[in-house]
Amino acid sequence: MSKRQVTLIPGDGIGPEVVASARQLIDATGVGIEWIEAEAGASVFKKGIASGVPKDTIEAISKTRVALKGPLETPVGYGEKSANVTLRKLFETFGNLRPVRELPGVPTPYSGRGVDLIVVRENVEDLYAGIEHMQTPTVAQCLKLISAKGCEKIVRLAFEVARAEGRKSVHCATKANIMKLTEGMLKRTFERIAPEYPDIQASHIIIDNCAHQLVKKPEQFEVIVTTNMNGDIISDLSSALIGGLGFAPSANIGHDVAIFEAVHGSAPKYAGKDVINPTAMILSGVMMLRYLEEFEAAALIENAVLATLQEGKSLTRDVVGDARAVGTKAFTAAILANFGKRPSGVTPRVYRPLKVPRVVENPPPPRQRGLVGVDVFVEAALSPVEVGQKMEAAAAGTDFKLKMVSNRGTMVYPPTGAQTDCVDHWRCRFLMPSGDESRCTAQLTQLLRQVEAAGLRWMHIEKLPQFDGARGYTMAQGED
Ligand code: NAP
Repeated sequence: MSKRQVTLIPGDGIGPEVVASARQLIDATGVGIEWIEAEAGASVFKKGIASGVPKDTIEAISKTRVALKGPLETPVGYGEKSANVTLRKLFETFGNLRPVRELPGVPTPYSGRGVDLIVVRENVEDLYAGIEHMQTPTVAQCLKLISAKGCEKIVRLAFEVARAEGRKSVHCATKANIMKLTEGMLKRTFERIAPEYPDIQASHIIIDNCAHQLVKKPEQFEVIVTTNMNGDIISDLSSALIGGLGFAPSANIGHDVAIFEAVHGSAPKYAGKDVINPTAMILSGVMMLRYLEEFEAAALIENAVLATLQEGKSLTRDVVGDARAVGTKAFTAAILANFGKRPSGVTPRVYRPLKVPRVVENPPPPRQRGLVGVDVFVEAALSPVEVGQKMEAAAAGTDFKLKMVSNRGTMVYPPTGAQTDCVDHWRCRFLMPSGDESRCTAQLTQLLRQVEAAGLRWMHIEKLPQFDGARGYTMAQGED
């Protein structure tokens, strides 16, 4: 029988040790895997490859489509971008799955509560697009980009994960109450798609309450789907509920490629010392086996890990402290010796193949679109009234009318009485009520010239669109 090829990236710091443990156990199950070793991370940055991912590694992953990867360090002074983020984006692994389940033999304040949930984190959009600009010498901006396509893919993935794992509910956690267009897009997409999965209970929860509920009553959650930044935070929080980073596996899932890795980093201070806990990496390997539909091999390893933890004879220092600890290799050997054992009191989950959703089409374009004005962002060391009056004058001779000026999102002109501590970054909203896109665009250059002539430096503009009659922008605090 031909072997299934998998790219193996040992990674940096403790990476080679935890990857060796996972590989040893996967090989011992007898599944036919041919490992294709590839490099990424610190050693690659040092060779002057700024992405941290060489061409050979990209080719290997493109060919095998599945990778098991150790943590990668992002050395300061070499590459600017994280090699991890590069890999996620390069292969459009749009979903990050982070399961946490109470582990026998690993006591936590939550032991006995039955914590068993999976965070489905959007993996390539949001603030992690990494598009940042200094708008003025004192004000920085990071663009939060959320797409309809990205939302649809992650929401469908969350429901498919629920089905594959026999789970009954999915929560969508967003900050849609504040960020109505970006976070709101995930919420609206979730509400639109949920009826297609009538077997699964769908609820929305505001992300801050989700964090609160995760600490208070984590057993209420089965699947949580959320945006990239929110997911980053609540998945780390969730891993602490069951024993911490040493136990947190993950999968980066795309349409064609999946990359499996522990949530933790390269913990350089422990590198080569045979002391760290390889469980997170081993369980990442278990997730990989399930993705490859090797369910028996996955269960063999998972049960042996749980049985070893439950026995409590051979545990690493992060669980039992230095005095009673065994090393990484001895812990792995103990798991191997427990192949065939099952932990008591742990109900096995029945897994089905995961159907990774395919959303090929972008949503159709709007039937009607208009442009009702423009926000011009200017730099000025003036008072709100001075900025407002200069901007009113700058609109002279155009069809634009100044509607308001805001500072860090709060309307300050016309004056509202708000006690805003203003900085040198102002958003000036000009409306052209006709909604005529070509007229608005044609007069924009004149408006910007007149803004500059008034002595204000503009650094950014945003058009105010309408799509099928719906406003494509939000109002400032205090604006009506
Ligand atoms: P880290 O490597 O995750 O280590 C932080 C701490 O977590 C360790 O000092 C240790 O805590 C504990 N820990 C982590 N893994 C463990 C394990 N397997 N067993 C037991 N304890 C474990 O985070 P970091 O120090 O912030 O980051 C180090 C490097 O890793 C950075 O270059 C970062 O960019 C990179 N990183 C990579 C990834 C990735 O490849 N996916 C993810 C995160 C960070 P104690 O000190 O309390 O023992």
